Amino acid sequence: MRLLLTTPQGIEDLAKAEVENLLSKLGVPFRVEEKPLGVEGRVLAEVGEAFYRDEKGRERELSVATYLNERSRLLHRVIVEIAGERFEGICEDEPEKALSRIEGFVASLPVERFVKVSESFAVRPFRKGEHRITSVDIAKTVGKAIFERLERFGKPKVNLDHPSVIFRAELVGESFFLGIDTTGDSSLHRRPWRVYDHPAHLKASIANALIELVKPDGGSFIDPFCGSGTIPIELALRGYPGRIICLEKYRRYLLGAEMNALAAGVHDRIEFLLGDATRLGEYFDSVDFAASNPPYGLKIGRRSMIPELYMGFFGELAKVLEKRGVFITTEKKAMEEAIEENGFKILHHRLIGHGGLMVHTYVIE
Ligand code: SAM
Repeated sequence: MRLLLTTPQGIEDLAKAEVENLLSKLGVPFRVEEKPLGVEGRVLAEVGEAFYRDEKGRERELSVATYLNERSRLLHRVIVEIAGERFEGICEDEPEKALSRIEGFVASLPVERFVKVSESFAVRPFRKGEHRITSVDIAKTVGKAIFERLERFGKPKVNLDHPSVIFRAELVGESFFLGIDTTGDSSLHRRPWRVYDHPAHLKASIANALIELVKPDGGSFIDPFCGSGTIPIELALRGYPGRIICLEKYRRYLLGAEMNALAAGVHDRIEFLLGDATRLGEYFDSVDFAASNPPYGLKIGRRSMIPELYMGFFGELAKVLEKRGVFITTEKKAMEEAIEENGFKILHHRLIGHGGLMVHTYVIE
């Protein structure tokens, strides 16, 4: 089976490592590739059939897609591949020709193996590259081809709002892909624990990427601009054994973080502190690890305040940080100046896609 896995741009290597780690526990052959065909935000996994023993000792087939949906912290979607095809020259094709090539291909696929005629379905499209067709054209064409194929077996049902089965059709450059989206319409980064929605919250997948990058070893950990608590909550959910602190300047956000932590069942694992990150040294003598997305001045606060805020914060962090920190921001210049002026060394830098922006991520010590 081939699974197309989606994840934020810039963390494909971390998602690949996570998937390899999860698949290695199944004792089946597998191969994982990051950015298949050069497509960012994608990981491809080829996996052999997996089995488990039920309570009566019978061997049952294990759904690897469900296994990954339930366990991954870095993936957004798990899509089972039905078929892929390279359409040479499709980027230049007239719309009618491009769509008829896609329709002919989909019509030839045994989609009836993936959806019962009694089940409703919908097609969700994705398109990247220069084409003369839109993603809406792709959804309509693929939907029509699937419908006509299923008509051979009964009366197909389309339900665009609440389908039982979601087909995912992607055209990236000349590569076309059709699969079943086993995750559903709500991406895995939308965690069920998020009962309080902060205006600038971090995706949970990216919070986990930051945790992977800073590699906390059980020592004390702080998110000094914790907002709704995404990073501390995700860390606590991983069973982190050490002290976890969530520091936030505004009471309403800190209360939101507490509500989220309660919903996640980890409230008792986190210390919630109302305070100012630019006065960190007043609250702690030392902390081993820090991870945060401080304000960028886009959704919260003014952009002109950012250099001063970062300089004040890293000045305090320099007094208390024992090991490593990881910080993510759009404000490259202000962040680099604050890091360097306060005597920190940048161990690693990468760009991560977040909310339509490529955001700078720094691991420091
Ligand atoms: N990662 C958080 C989440 O997922 O909800 C969002 C963090 S948000 C980008 C930045 C947070 O820093 C905001 O909640 C803001 O109120 C807080 N903040 C701004 N200035 C602060 C300061 N001096 N000390 C502590 N928190 C501050």
